[in-house]
Amino acid sequence: YGDASQKIDYVFKVVLIGDSAVGKSQILARFARNEFSLDSKATIGVEFQTRTLVIQHKSVKAQIWDTAGQERYRAVTSAYYRGAVGAMLVYDITKRQTFEHIPRWLEELRAHADKNIVIILIGNKTDLEDQRAVPTEDAKEFAEKEGLFFLETSALEATNVETAFVTVLTEIFNIVN
Ligand code: GDP
Ligand code: MG
Repeated sequence: YGDASQKIDYVFKVVLIGDSAVGKSQILARFARNEFSLDSKATIGVEFQTRTLVIQHKSVKAQIWDTAGQERYRAVTSAYYRGAVGAMLVYDITKRQTFEHIPRWLEELRAHADKNIVIILIGNKTDLEDQRAVPTEDAKEFAEKEGLFFLETSALEATNVETAFVTVLTEIFNIVN
């Protein structure tokens, strides 16, 4: 993980959004610190975490913002979106409602964020396959229609979390280069 002595070529702000309890904070914990907690408290206070990666020989500092329990509709303020070049739109594959709320989050994102923001739709908790309520195909179809990247992840098992961030950061990198 990040080497403090490294020179930073880019800083990219990426925001995590989606309903409460879908796993946003655990996805971030997995990416930033390779940690996971099953009894994670609702996020309070901490605004963002960073991790520096190398993309095409440049060091890219990802500054990942996590909602501080503001997941109620329209409670996320525009300051949260300001300057964001990437967004991860997260739902829980075991909770249909969290997927049904995605268009709302997308609308909010499009209202507040830069119009060139790179967005990835993430279906989290694939380790709970036996409780799946959202077919992969439904989400894939929605993502294609809306022009979003799409991946299913498990923060618990560390499946695809790294890939999800690398996908977004690489796309942003390619846009600015
Ligand atoms: P947030 O409100 O979106 O930030 O959600 P949290 O990250 O706080 O996670 C909510 C709950 O879901 C916690 O109990 C987490 O441990 C659990 N959780 C998060 N990600 C996963 C996952 O990939 N698999 C499983 N089984 N549980 C998860
Ligand atoms: Mg949280």
